[in-house]
Amino acid sequence: MDYNENRPRPNLIDISNLGIKCAECNADIDKLPFTPTKKEDGTYGKIYCYECNKGRRKDFKRRF
Ligand SMILES: [Zn+2]
Repeated sequence: MDYNENRPRPNLIDISNLGIKCAECNADIDKLPFTPTKKEDGTYGKIYCYECNKGRRKDFKRRF
């Protein structure tokens, strides 16, 4: 039997064709670890680039 235990890291999905920009620094986002889904208002909601996501997490921790 072949157990698949060493899973690969989450793959980044190429979303450059969606034309999504970071809600914080307005940089083009061409890769995400998930596929964004459109909300009822036709937007993808707030999506942050990798760098801003990192910064936001740090802020969150610092608050404590
Ligand atoms: Zn950003």
